[in-house]
Amino acid sequence: MYTLGIDIGSTTSKCVIVKDGKDIIASSIVIAGTGTEGPNQAREEVLKNAGLKQEDLKYVVVTGYGRTIYTDADAEISELSCHALGVKHIFPDVRTIIDIGGQDAKVLSLNEKGNMVNFLMNDKCAAGTGRFLDAMAGILQLDINDLEIKASEATNPAKISNTCTVFAESEVISQLAAGVELNNLVAGICSSVASRVASLAKRIGIREKVCMSGGVARNGGVRSALSKELGVEIFYSPFAQLMGALGAALAAYNKVN
Ligand code: ADP
Repeated sequence: MYTLGIDIGSTTSKCVIVKDGKDIIASSIVIAGTGTEGPNQAREEVLKNAGLKQEDLKYVVVTGYGRTIYTDADAEISELSCHALGVKHIFPDVRTIIDIGGQDAKVLSLNEKGNMVNFLMNDKCAAGTGRFLDAMAGILQLDINDLEIKASEATNPAKISNTCTVFAESEVISQLAAGVELNNLVAGICSSVASRVASLAKRIGIREKVCMSGGVARNGGVRSALSKELGVEIFYSPFAQLMGALGAALAAYNKVN
């Protein structure tokens, strides 16, 4: 039996198809979120990747920021529950999830059964979210995927003192003009995101194992800065950005059963 999970975020649309509530058959990520054609494109793409047709899907669950305006699913479930389900499937022992998306950051505490018992969220400020990284990559004329490699080549990471994205942009431009090396600036930008999110995580209390989910988890520079700030290992899966969609596909299976 095939079930589909769709995660419609502020920035991206993600889909995962799962077979029999266990095996991940196919996935897709489209860089266009709620209010765009992104969800439909992601759905078409995942069906194509799986070699399946719409009628092969037994049940569809939608989650994420844009779930309430999406009408083509059998049920909708909050992204917190879906992230917890997705992470539990990949890392059954995780007790803290740090999820950094395009527009917000969340820290979820799970109990021994993998159920969410507490969470904290920053959705008020772009600092500490993907939006901050997107803005900085823009002014440095770098692809978002290149930040990780640049950060890893830093010899003396820069300190970005402004947390406000607009002021930090000016600061980055001034530091560039003052001759600070690009790699060092990128490492400083990754650390700035990590330190914002670390304070959120410290408020809820860190219990190991800790994993990162969401698009920003793909950036090894942010992962290692966060690991240093919190003094714990951060577990990472290449499915990090798909955890919500995976959880939705698993929830769809549970609904049918
Ligand atoms: P949402 O669900 O809120 O739409 P995602 O969890 O899909 O967001 O994350 C989107 C964010 O992921 C983007 O804002 C971007 O900054 C970040 N991102 C995506 N790929 C990378 C990458 N390779 N390195 C760093 N950040 C990335």
